[in-house]
Amino acid sequence: MVNLTYLMRLGGTTQPLVVLEPEQAALAALKILGIKDKRVEEKIREEQERKKKEIEEADKEVKDQWCMEVLFVTDLHGSKWKYERLFEVAEDFGANVVINGGDMLPQNSEPFGQGEFITNYLDNHFARFNSAGIYYLCYLGNDDLRIFDQLFEETCNKYSFVVCLAQRKFEVGGYEFVGMNWVVDYPFRLKDRCRMDTDDYIFQEQFGKGLLSTPNGWQEIDDWFAYAKMLPTIEEEINRLVRPKDMVKSVYVIHMPPYRLGLDKCYHGAEVGSKAIYDFLKKYQPKLSLHGHIHESPEVSGRWYAKLGRTICIQPGQLSEFTYVTIDLSTMKFDRIKEQYVT
Ligand SMILES: [Zn+2]
Repeated sequence: MVNLTYLMRLGGTTQPLVVLEPEQAALAALKILGIKDKRVEEKIREEQERKKKEIEEADKEVKDQWCMEVLFVTDLHGSKWKYERLFEVAEDFGANVVINGGDMLPQNSEPFGQGEFITNYLDNHFARFNSAGIYYLCYLGNDDLRIFDQLFEETCNKYSFVVCLAQRKFEVGGYEFVGMNWVVDYPFRLKDRCRMDTDDYIFQEQFGKGLLSTPNGWQEIDDWFAYAKMLPTIEEEINRLVRPKDMVKSVYVIHMPPYRLGLDKCYHGAEVGSKAIYDFLKKYQPKLSLHGHIHESPEVSGRWYAKLGRTICIQPGQLSEFTYVTIDLSTMKFDRIKEQYVT
């Protein structure tokens, strides 16, 4: 092809040589030389077509990267009407990625029945997103028993568009999503995913002995504080997560909210967020962090998002209405929507 460009110069053109694509140069050269070989011409045209397709595909890829519509929802606690709406809204909104931030299973009097919800409901829910080609990043939360982690993960793994994001990183559309579902300890008895925030964490007064789920039922922990001290802290857990290559294009999905931002306020006014998560976000400055856990916080504090340096932190909450957030990652426009239950 370089030679053909050279031939063009020899072709006697007085115009300065413009930078031509090799295929264009080849065609031009053929004309100049008066070559009428149909086969050569055909080959060059084919090559031009191929190039055109390549450019179109690259354009589409770029466009896909530019349009990154994310739908974030959290703490659905097995509410089927909310799950149904989630799919409809994701389709209407044209979501590329749906993020479900934990506490996905029903919280009924018989928590050991949560496995049935995964098998009888979530499996089909995931299948719908998979068929629609919408990525679904999710994990279980502190109210979802750890004994179902394996079943949950196996169910996710049945679908290429469904990803269990617990303590993992997943890349899509040029963005890196990192998930963590450990929570700071609380007074409630279920301790499956509880951790001390930092080494000097001061425990709250407890509602009773700690409980861990086992396949044979509850295991009572006599001295939960001593037990928790042997576990890694939230600070250690968040620092050992896979680090994204580029924080500027990263989204952290952390069930537990950070402290000091008004995203962690309980009904009685206590602010129970994590110092370790706050410090991590402040230090590493990802594009976005998504949280849940304290369902009532936005209504109590009047805040559902906050800025921590360059990082936007979102905690939409979840009460009786179906509450979700739409985020355009390319423009960083985001919105919180609440829907009443309609029969
Ligand atoms: Zn929670």
